[in-house]
Amino acid sequence: MAQQELQHIADLYQEAWQNIHQRLRHEYGEATYNSWLKNIELDRVQNGHVVMTLPTKFLRDWVINNYANRIRQIWALESEEIQSIDIQVRDASVAQGTAPKISANSAPTPAAGNIKSLPQDGENDQSSFISQLDPRFTFENFVVGKSNELAHAAARRVAEAKDNIPFNPLYLYGGVGLGKTHLMHAIGHAIAANCPEKKVLYLSAEKFMYRFIRALRFKDTMNFKDQFRSVDVLMIDDVQFISGKDSTQEEFFHTFNALVDQNHQIIISGDRSPTDLEGMEERMRSRLGWGLVADIHPTDYELRLGILQSKVEQAEVDIDHRILEFLAHRITSNVRELEGALNRVLAYSDLVGRAVTLESTQEVLRDLLRANDRRTTIEEIQKRVAEHFNIRMSDMHSARRARAVARPRQVAMYLAKQLTTRSLPEIGRKFGGRDHTTVMHAVRQIDKLRADDISLSEDIELLKRMLES
Ligand code: ADP
Ligand code: MG
Repeated sequence: MAQQELQHIADLYQEAWQNIHQRLRHEYGEATYNSWLKNIELDRVQNGHVVMTLPTKFLRDWVINNYANRIRQIWALESEEIQSIDIQVRDASVAQGTAPKISANSAPTPAAGNIKSLPQDGENDQSSFISQLDPRFTFENFVVGKSNELAHAAARRVAEAKDNIPFNPLYLYGGVGLGKTHLMHAIGHAIAANCPEKKVLYLSAEKFMYRFIRALRFKDTMNFKDQFRSVDVLMIDDVQFISGKDSTQEEFFHTFNALVDQNHQIIISGDRSPTDLEGMEERMRSRLGWGLVADIHPTDYELRLGILQSKVEQAEVDIDHRILEFLAHRITSNVRELEGALNRVLAYSDLVGRAVTLESTQEVLRDLLRANDRRTTIEEIQKRVAEHFNIRMSDMHSARRARAVARPRQVAMYLAKQLTTRSLPEIGRKFGGRDHTTVMHAVRQIDKLRADDISLSEDIELLKRMLES
């Protein structure tokens, strides 16, 4: 039945488990690792609770007393899902008979670190619901711009609705790092503040699947259904995750319908529009589009600058405005990377004890800047240049030598060399299969002409700016 899903989860944690072993070996050294830790095996992971085993009671007690807290921390680093761990004696009959289960949470050594131990299955009570929301992700901290204003307004509307349901579901979609999760958490905070009596449940589609599979395995689906169907507001993040996961989707479909029937609010996010969710059943896709579908577009320069300013104000740091402009200009991929870039720059200046400069910014962010370099294509260059000089696109490839087409073609080759990383032969091929020496000649020619011909020089500057924006 949900075989594929089960396998997925198993793989997920197996990989984490390998990493954890490596880390333990690294942190404690070969000797300790070999004596105590090497033989720990992963037994199962259930709803944020990890069960591991050791072959003897002696080993088990020793590891619990000396290493369990660290193991729990490392688990939490590997997977945010994990909230508590247990180490049992390998032989099941012994573990359940003579040896009581010992949770690392109640181990004698005081719990170190910052891992919250949330009550299991406690999502129905508000306090634990709120503790699952990122406190930074509020409406106050969300900067609104053209690209996200519809999604923001819709989220506000849903958050402020008292008894009426403005649209059901609200479906938010957009690329990674553009603020979908932020908006959902903001809705959660606002509802908790305005209507504390409402039961709100926020979870990722992955977690939904995980809980569903667990319910199946423990023949507890009635309870599962009750839990989900008794909420006033259900938010499922990253719904694309359950594409192709048929039984989870089926269950989600029923949950969805039950909630809509009771007129309870549903908010969904995805990385693409409902119609583009491949691997999702047609009936599910159409249901997802029933209410309001709001997309978040990639950010523009103003919004990026606004976000940076707001972050700097929040962090109460002093930073040259030109550096913010530089970052807003160059880190265009998404807000998460933009924030990351700012944090890196600030951390660096903190570390070396000097104010941030443009040079240090470029140095610290070298890899990121390279990855964010906008990839201008040769086709784009040809198109822009053809438009600018009012010639046909086909003339970029044609053999015509008339000055009126040959010069713009040379300009396009010149820009291709300047703005892309293509080699001369590659550029030649894109211009109707010309030889690389022709391209080289064009580049030299334009360089030379630019020096004297002011209007040509201006044309080129203008084209460059358009292509780089
Ligand atoms: P998504 O869920 O769409 O992948 P997130 O909601 O996780 O993206 O956003 C990534 C990061 O960018 C978060 O730290 C979030 O606070 C921040 N962010 C995104 N959009 C905005 C915005 N408009 N204003 C302020 N911060 C934002
Ligand atoms: Mg997200």
